[in-house]
Amino acid sequence: SYRKGGYHAVRVADQFAGGRYIAQRKLGWGQFSTVWLAYDIQTSSYVALKIQKSAAEFVQAALHEINVLSSIANGDSSNSRCLVQLIDHFKHTGPNGQHLCMVLEFLGDNLLRLIKYNHYKGLPLSKVRAVCKCILIGLDYLHRELGIIHTDLKPENILLFSAIDPSKDPFRSGVSPILEKPEGNTNGGFTSLIEKRLKIRARRAVAKISLKRGSMGGIEEAPKFGRNIDGIDMRCKIVDFGNACWADKPLAEEIQTRQYRAPEVILKAGYSFSVDMWSFACIAFELATGDVLFTPKGGGQGFCEDEDHLARMMELLGKMPRKIAIAGAQSKDFFDRHGDLKRIRRLKFWPLDKLLMDRYKFTEKDASEFSEFLLPLLDFAPEKRPTAQKCLQHPWLNCKESTPNETINESSVEKVNIGMSNLKIKVGK
Ligand code: ATP
Ligand code: MG
Ligand code: MG
Repeated sequence: SYRKGGYHAVRVADQFAGGRYIAQRKLGWGQFSTVWLAYDIQTSSYVALKIQKSAAEFVQAALHEINVLSSIANGDSSNSRCLVQLIDHFKHTGPNGQHLCMVLEFLGDNLLRLIKYNHYKGLPLSKVRAVCKCILIGLDYLHRELGIIHTDLKPENILLFSAIDPSKDPFRSGVSPILEKPEGNTNGGFTSLIEKRLKIRARRAVAKISLKRGSMGGIEEAPKFGRNIDGIDMRCKIVDFGNACWADKPLAEEIQTRQYRAPEVILKAGYSFSVDMWSFACIAFELATGDVLFTPKGGGQGFCEDEDHLARMMELLGKMPRKIAIAGAQSKDFFDRHGDLKRIRRLKFWPLDKLLMDRYKFTEKDASEFSEFLLPLLDFAPEKRPTAQKCLQHPWLNCKESTPNETINESSVEKVNIGMSNLKIKVGK
């Protein structure tokens, strides 16, 4: 992918936007971009630099993403505090072409890495609740105030962030919610010797700035949390608005990453905000159990991934009402006129509360309360799914042990609540 039209190869200490941003290390990547931690010499703080691939379709996508991010950034900042903030954007020309770059506030690790870090065990429910609240606050603002559907909610696109401003000193403050060194190649393809030299170069570049400005600098490793997640402040923000769209101007017919895709998208029956609520429920399950809720497999046995996906949904949620099953443009591919799947005839029904108890050893109380929270979000009828606003009022989110004092303190929760008087969040006390 590091060729004409593809990614831009970045080296530690590379400069961007006329020297304003200095690359520090790779934070992550996606199909569209690589994302680097960079030092902003103008504000003496750390930022995330999302460097888009350069081919025309990626430029187009980045322009769209900048558009969406701008409307988030121009909105009420206290209400959009669970959505990533755009700081700046510019073009960067390299050997592979011209790349649009987005400067975003620097956040911590994504939830998929948190799940991995926790050995796919499932997080304590108090932490799941805290993450769910952040996602819902973000979605409520996105849906109700901006009229935007994210369309690609998944653990990779939800990032942890620290109670103390992480842009200030992610390495020394000990508050950066970075769990461990990123896996794989973090430097864009350099051998360790060259990497060492480049790191020294970067250190010097930042040290110079530090001297001038009397601030910190350097590129030491991020502090590590212990081998458990007890001490992590469970707050997060939604990122990656590359596929987001205004509800009245849907961009694509096929949206969402497979496992988080809503049934109406598979059936091509049209979609709205409630597709995000479906994905949200899948994420909540994954956080609580460490397992992906739906993992359809295609091929081999005479049915495709889509049909297997629908079958798995019905094994968990019961039969899809016939009216809904046959209403999509794609329905005839999967359902007969009675509303039964054409190729997968025998379904093994395993309801959510039983699944939580049998496979994940939830207590009966936890299982029934958690399923009561999730099941309405997984309604086959999109219009029946609760909105993010409604969901925030659900008793499961607000029960007494939901936010223990050690995870979120009174003052940080108040901040989340500013300007959201209609969304009172109770703090355990
Ligand atoms: P996709 O293939 O999912 O569309 P993408 O190319 O649009 O991905 P993003 O999802 O925006 O890229 O970012 C890729 C990864 O980079 C994220 O999963 C995350 O790990 C990291 N990342 C993105 N934004 C930030 C940020 N603001 N702070 C820290 N890390 C970030
Ligand atoms: Mg992404
Ligand atoms: Mg994207």
